[in-house]
Amino acid sequence: MSRPSIAHIDLDALRHNYRLARNIHGGRALAVMKANAYGHGAGPCALALEGIADGFAVAFLEEAVALREAGIRSPILVLEGVFAGQDIATLELLDLWTVVHHEEQLRMIELHEGVPRIGVWLKADSGMGRAGFALQEMPAAHARLLASGKVTEVTLMTHFARADEPDHSATLHQITAFDAATSTLQGDRSLCNSAGVLGWPRACRDWARPGIMLYGADPMPAANSSLRPVMTLESQVFATRWLQTGEPLGYGATFVATRPTRVGLVAIGYADGYPRVAPNGTPVAVDGHATRLVGRVSMDMLTVDLSDLPATGIGSRVELWGAQVGVNDVARRVGTVSYELLCNVKRVPLAYRDGAASE
Ligand SMILES: *Cc1c(COP(=O)(O)O)cnc(C)c1O
Repeated sequence: MSRPSIAHIDLDALRHNYRLARNIHGGRALAVMKANAYGHGAGPCALALEGIADGFAVAFLEEAVALREAGIRSPILVLEGVFAGQDIATLELLDLWTVVHHEEQLRMIELHEGVPRIGVWLKADSGMGRAGFALQEMPAAHARLLASGKVTEVTLMTHFARADEPDHSATLHQITAFDAATSTLQGDRSLCNSAGVLGWPRACRDWARPGIMLYGADPMPAANSSLRPVMTLESQVFATRWLQTGEPLGYGATFVATRPTRVGLVAIGYADGYPRVAPNGTPVAVDGHATRLVGRVSMDMLTVDLSDLPATGIGSRVELWGAQVGVNDVARRVGTVSYELLCNVKRVPLAYRDGAASE
């Protein structure tokens, strides 16, 4: 009865990638689990890393609450920090760490009643121009946090805008500016996202914050690390048909056969998170053979070229991305990044494989 579309999640690969990130960086590493672990399922992924990871990071408080409810006892950092003063009580109650990146959040901590014991990560804007205190404000913000009597410790952090561009000087400028502005301040340092870990050894300090690399998608252009893909998004061919030369296919007739073309209909579409904007020629694999998307992706199905794969047919396995079809390759065709493709996956069941659990 059930539709043969599924995202397999390889928890052994997730653990492998976490260990790789931590080893490359040195020090400790928070596994970034925001956006439902980049579409991989935050609860099961965090549980697979519990006891291995030094801690976790999520975007906002509700995501942290969900991890605590799933049974995660390790430290959890809330990367966007709180939105209202009363959220501080939740931080205390659930023993969460929070980022403080602007004056309003600093004041919420100062004005909080009682004697909370909150771990704070004070964020500097070293060149991204988005969240974070201006570099010259860092010493004063740091002093106010310590003077508030409400924090257990202050970790100093910043975030890179262009760490996935190894030949661009922006990251080096960010590192140098951050170091200069914080040189007199006590506390651990955390600079690296995945691209920082993979491309910028100088930025590796006390704590890394790897996200995308945990899921096996290398953000660097060379993508030469030994990361293992965690998600395999797959479906099946449920019908086939021949198009004669000149016949159009699908909405908008974005593909017209230039030779007799055997088309496979596949039971997955943009409502499942496969991007509608994927053009003709986007790579897919059918029963392990590389072929291509043809025609426009619909809500519930898409179409692939089976002309050169006579052994394939109804029931053939179609990989949209995973071990064989790189999610980075699909993202490049689509004009986006692996992050967006992965965290958009929905409607398909997530099926976990865990070698460690079945031993
Ligand atoms: C999302 C996020 C990360 C992880 O980034 P990746 O590029 O996925 O490794 C690290 N730090 C902060 C502040 C983030 O928001």
